Amino acid sequence: MARLEESKISGPGDGKVMYIPPMEHWGTRFFAAVFRSIGYDARGLTEDASTLALGLKNTGGGECVPCPSTTGSLLAAMERDQVDPKRVIFFMPTACGPCRFGQYAKLDRMIFERKGWDGIQIMSPSAENAYEGIDIGARLKLYHAMVVSDIMRKLTHRTRPYEMDKGSVDFTVENYTKDMEAAFSNGDLDEVGRLVEAVSRELAVLPKYRAPRPLIGVVGEIYVRSDPFLNNDVCRRIEELGGEAWLAPMGEWLFYTSHLQTLLAKEQRPGLGGLFRRFRTWLETKFFFNRVEHHYYELAADVLHDRHEHPIQDVIAEGEKFLPWQFEGEAVLTLGRAALFVKRDGAKAIVNASPMFCMPGTVTTSIFPALEKELKAPIICNFYDGSGNPNQSLVPVMHYLSEPYRAEQAREKREYESHTSRRMTRKLNKRVLASGGDS
Ligand code: SF4
Repeated sequence: MARLEESKISGPGDGKVMYIPPMEHWGTRFFAAVFRSIGYDARGLTEDASTLALGLKNTGGGECVPCPSTTGSLLAAMERDQVDPKRVIFFMPTACGPCRFGQYAKLDRMIFERKGWDGIQIMSPSAENAYEGIDIGARLKLYHAMVVSDIMRKLTHRTRPYEMDKGSVDFTVENYTKDMEAAFSNGDLDEVGRLVEAVSRELAVLPKYRAPRPLIGVVGEIYVRSDPFLNNDVCRRIEELGGEAWLAPMGEWLFYTSHLQTLLAKEQRPGLGGLFRRFRTWLETKFFFNRVEHHYYELAADVLHDRHEHPIQDVIAEGEKFLPWQFEGEAVLTLGRAALFVKRDGAKAIVNASPMFCMPGTVTTSIFPALEKELKAPIICNFYDGSGNPNQSLVPVMHYLSEPYRAEQAREKREYESHTSRRMTRKLNKRVLASGGDS
């Protein structure tokens, strides 16, 4: 069952305004589009320094940074849009355990009460039951939206570092993103699939440099690692410093919460009830979650044929070498995915991105030196709170890792630039000839 009574949505949204937190570039937009398809006036929130400042002003000061950031972006949107709070729903998932994430929705409720916004609803589905509080039709579509967001991010990160025409990847991806939002709003998943295939084909043929770059695995707390505003655009920074980033996907958390149900049922419910629960989770995973994921990866194969995720059991097995699975939450995933990035995917280094004072982030940071020794690859643990420039810590490591590739990259770049300038000279000459030498 869902944790908060407001979390249940049982039918069309009656035009209520729903705000979606600005956690991730594609996820926020696609989630809003899915909610629009079932009758909500859903809007993706945006964030910047001023919304974060507003959030910090209205929270206690000790919260981890996703809390003031989400709260501030909502408060700014409410002030800007002047919507009656009684018509507003704030989408704020929650989770179990000692982690503060379970408290975000409760703190938001207190802030709303202080402002006299009693009528505002918080839709707060829980990771505890793999988000069962959400209406099944919407839940299925949201899963599609989550997988496609992961795919769009991966397509970008796989191609952008190699683009010859600066900005061409972002431009192409953004055009398709807009079309995908429209397709999700219309509930047209076939069209979404067609667009995934088309964007992958188009990105695959954009002019690109061939010289390799060191692959850097990015793990850590799901909100901060996925949010370019809060992590100072860590993946783009890796690219600027000569690398290619592979960010652990959002879908990992869903596979984890689903698999956790199986582990808990095995341990706590040995009877028929537990067996039924495990069977149901197995069915869901095999015939829905895995199938949807494979479907989109197939469609994006032109670019992502070598960027598949590993089964969640393998991630947990690696993490369990340092923490038991009963230590629920992100720490096991962070450790396990980091190990697999190096062992199986060929990553040359790991970035562990966490909010300042994050509980799982602090735990993993204390364990990573041991894993670093085992993997023989550098692990950079960065903590973010919206201030300073934590990504400076990447500079020396990336300098060392990119060194072997730098000469080849520079040669290719020179060749491309001289080719471009020859092409432009030819074009100019043709134009001069055509105008009879007047221009
Ligand atoms: S995982 Fe870290 S950042 Fe997220 S709520 Fe928990 S303590 Fe805060």
